[in-house]
Amino acid sequence: MEQKSRVGVYICHCGTNIAGFVDVEGVADFASGLEGVEIARHYTYMCSDPGQALIREDIQNLGLQRVVVASCSPLMHETTFREVCSEAGLNPFLFQMTNIREHVSWVSVDRVKATAKAKALVAAAVRRVRLQEQLEMRRVSMKQSALVVGGGIAGIEAALRLADAGKQVYLVEKEPSIGGHMAQLYKTFPTLDCAA
Ligand SMILES: Cc1cc2nc3c(=O)[nH]c(=O)nc-3n(C[C@H](O)[C@H](O)[C@H](O)COP(=O)(O)OP(=O)(O)OC[C@H]3O[C@@H](n4cnc5c(N)ncnc54)[C@H](O)[C@@H]3O)c2cc1C
Repeated sequence: MEQKSRVGVYICHCGTNIAGFVDVEGVADFASGLEGVEIARHYTYMCSDPGQALIREDIQNLGLQRVVVASCSPLMHETTFREVCSEAGLNPFLFQMTNIREHVSWVSVDRVKATAKAKALVAAAVRRVRLQEQLEMRRVSMKQSALVVGGGIAGIEAALRLADAGKQVYLVEKEPSIGGHMAQLYKTFPTLDCAA
């Protein structure tokens, strides 16, 4: 499988967020020489509509079998790029994102070292995506209720959050009252609030 994979690599500038500290053109050049890589591009905003279209068109026109995007945190845009893959007919789990913003440009002062780190992360992402396998999403019915064991502050907070999300919550406490350790303290550091 690894030898067959045709990987597309997309390096995002994120405006100057990444491009200001990383040689994005150099990273794309480096990526284009990695084993299995069919195409490597860099673009101002990969998450923008034209950026997404670039990936979609490459998947369809070049028959890409894997996609790597080097940009921001997956928390921000992993879903976006997985959807792009799906729309182009590629299984969304044959996609790998690597974070060269929070993990590189935002925490670097040396452009040369930042670029070297970005290259290493891209190389790792390419190696990884070539070994990924197709996954299918399944829908399963779930009970809309939850059991929280322990009524300390952690349990109380978890129960309240679940209840706010509309779940029926059962909070179980083995002692006669809730509050756990916190309820036994007079005042708490650092605010000196009354613990109870
Ligand atoms: C001496 C001391 C001073 C501290 N001072 C501070 C401070 O100044 N500021 C601060 O922020 N933090 C302070 N802490 C830390 C703080 O009290 C704890 O981080 C916090 O109480 C932990 O809450 P918790 O809900 O995770 O656990 P716990 O408070 O331990 O609550 C766990 C609950 O689960 C229940 N439970 C356990 N097993 C079961 C079971 N099988 N079935 C049902 N119920 C179960 C227990 O009875 C308990 O009520 C202090 C801790 C101590 C010990």
